[in-house]
Amino acid sequence: MKPRHIPALFLALALTTAGSSHGQVTGSQLPDFGDSSGSLISPAQEREFGAMFMRSIRAQTTLVNDPHTVNYVRQLGDRLVTYSDTPGYPFTFFVVQDPSVNAFAGPGGYIGIHTGLILTAENESELAGVMAHEIAHVTQRHLLRAYESASQMSLPTAAAMIAAVLLGAATDPGAGMAAASAVQAGNIQRQLNFTRANEKEADRIGIQTLGRSGIDPFGMPAFFERLHQSTRLYGNNVPEFLLTHPVTSDRIAESVQRAEELGRGKERNTLEFDLIKARLDVMLADSPRTSADKYQKLFKQQPHNVATKYGLALASMLNGDRATGKKLLNQLMAEDPDRIIYRTTLANLEMENDQTTAALKLFRDTLALYPGDLATGQYYTAALIQAGQADKARKQVLTMLKKPEAHTMTNYELWAKASSISGPQWETRQATAEVYYLAGNLPLAIDQLEQAMKMDGMSQYVRARIQARLEEFKRELLEQKEE
Ligand SMILES: [Zn+2]
Repeated sequence: MKPRHIPALFLALALTTAGSSHGQVTGSQLPDFGDSSGSLISPAQEREFGAMFMRSIRAQTTLVNDPHTVNYVRQLGDRLVTYSDTPGYPFTFFVVQDPSVNAFAGPGGYIGIHTGLILTAENESELAGVMAHEIAHVTQRHLLRAYESASQMSLPTAAAMIAAVLLGAATDPGAGMAAASAVQAGNIQRQLNFTRANEKEADRIGIQTLGRSGIDPFGMPAFFERLHQSTRLYGNNVPEFLLTHPVTSDRIAESVQRAEELGRGKERNTLEFDLIKARLDVMLADSPRTSADKYQKLFKQQPHNVATKYGLALASMLNGDRATGKKLLNQLMAEDPDRIIYRTTLANLEMENDQTTAALKLFRDTLALYPGDLATGQYYTAALIQAGQADKARKQVLTMLKKPEAHTMTNYELWAKASSISGPQWETRQATAEVYYLAGNLPLAIDQLEQAMKMDGMSQYVRARIQARLEEFKRELLEQKEE
């Protein structure tokens, strides 16, 4: 019953390639996405296409669900968007569990960042530089050409293919799609390879965004320069990012000049970045043993490095040495008592130590300090379920779900789990339907809601809500079939 490790719940919610239907749906056309001359697709169409793209991404790869990592990347992204040219545009940031150095922008403002890129970046300004660059590709509408070349396909096929190309799966036609689609994928690939003019524009706009956000604008050229250098070192092993975003010395020189105009003295790094990087490094290691060994060595070399200490605490805990983990976390908290990531890590460790009361109290205190913090809320919900308090867990997750940014796979799974123990049956169906929906499986989502509708005892209000959601799903499925 009791999960062995926390990551089992949060990192490995793997949704691997389900036999998708590339090539089965063909024929009619995408909605008119406009042309390169500048006419725009309607925001509603773009949102719908974006949501479809995101579901294809989920069906084709593994996303990182670690609450702290997800939270961190979303908050950094939101900060950049606030200072971009289109602060009102609805961006969504997500992290792909993939060691290659890559980041990409898809339709509808969906921006993916590979774990390999986070682990390669040396500081927050480098990561922010790449993100600001991707945001600019979206705001400057550089993806329109890719939409155009996709316009001969059905909407779901185009979404799936753009996802496959961006994830790098299409470079091996056997892996991501049927051979018949390889030619179309090639076309999309070419359209997704931004032109040099696009790249320079994304650099220029992105650097402005960095500067306005108070983040060191040199982060962007610094990271690109390092990628550029690495191509010389690794020969054919070109970082994925450079395939879609060709970097030239000329371009780097230009961005350095722009960064200089904005001046130095802006924020280069945060402790939070270093902690997230250490956390990902530990969680993605081949085994807890490997990372415990690695961080023991690192800690001997740099005993005063806080992120290394945190990495060792987490690695020790995952490796079963909870005494060391607890000792180190207490030391970290003595210096910096309010840091969320320390508090939740310690609370999770106390859960593993069967110190449930202390753990739940630490979660509650942290939520009192940071009301609405999603990472803490998710861990607290999971801990409540584990502690046999599913009713409280259900209330906690329902409170979180009032916020749109909380509409994540992990939260719907927690909702399904909590309500299956303590909620009405139809609610479990509702929650499970949302899980299937996000996973890109409309028929199963519809089936769950149809079963819910057959149940008795719900209020008219709940019935109307389920009915409305069911109709939305059915409409979407019909649209897919028509295309
Ligand atoms: Zn680019």
